Amino acid sequence: MSFKNSEWFNLNEIKDGVWFISDKTGANCYLVEGETKSLLIDTGWGLANLSDLVGSITSLPINVVFTHGHPDHVNGAFQFSDLYIKSEDVKLMEMFYIKETRKQIINRFKEILPSDFSIYDWVNAQITNPSPVSDGYIFDLGNRKLKVIECPGHTAGSICLLDIRDETLFSGDSLLAKPVLMNLETSMGLKTYLKSIKHVNTFADDFNIILSGHDDKPVDPIVIGELISGVSDIIQGKIKGKIEKTRFGDALAYKFEHTAINYNEEGL
Ligand SMILES: [Zn+2]
Repeated sequence: MSFKNSEWFNLNEIKDGVWFISDKTGANCYLVEGETKSLLIDTGWGLANLSDLVGSITSLPINVVFTHGHPDHVNGAFQFSDLYIKSEDVKLMEMFYIKETRKQIINRFKEILPSDFSIYDWVNAQITNPSPVSDGYIFDLGNRKLKVIECPGHTAGSICLLDIRDETLFSGDSLLAKPVLMNLETSMGLKTYLKSIKHVNTFADDFNIILSGHDDKPVDPIVIGELISGVSDIIQGKIKGKIEKTRFGDALAYKFEHTAINYNEEGL
């Protein structure tokens, strides 16, 4: 694959040793470099050479952790070897390495793929078995530690990662300034999500910035409070979203000041 990385990725060192890597589709990854190891958080679609890009930034061994098992986070996993994911999302991740599924996915991107992109290689890509992480697991990068905070809701195996030294929370798709998607086949009910974000909120004093899986800039932690009270109100029937057509079918959409949520009536 000889895709020009500069055409596909947008790279920005947002803090000392923390790189924001977004791709053309709006999927974000983050590279966090420590003294002895680096941690890559999510891998995007894998439609360009993320491994080369990451290798040009850090020469340290790389652990790769997935905030959850959706394809826009795990489909680049085949470019790496030391993978970590919460066990509840392993099956979901593996589903996106089934040849037929990958054939369907790649069709969506046909228009934007470079002429020398090897569809065959991408469709046939395989991953090494991921190691499980659970709540409280620590990635020790030397002078920097990142803690796993479980956050089931968007998917059963969704996690956030807390960079303890930098007071930064990497939230994947669990906390966004964009709508949090709780209307997907893989979504748990809103009650589960509410319990999860309350759990994340118990660490509120430990971070002052959220870096999400799809926003192009840092997210204000104020979204957590808005979602806790908003989702409670939805569950109690005090407020209700408006029906909207989304990429994933009709959903009830409710907009708060700094964030939003999409959900289904049956997914309360
Ligand atoms: Zn997702």
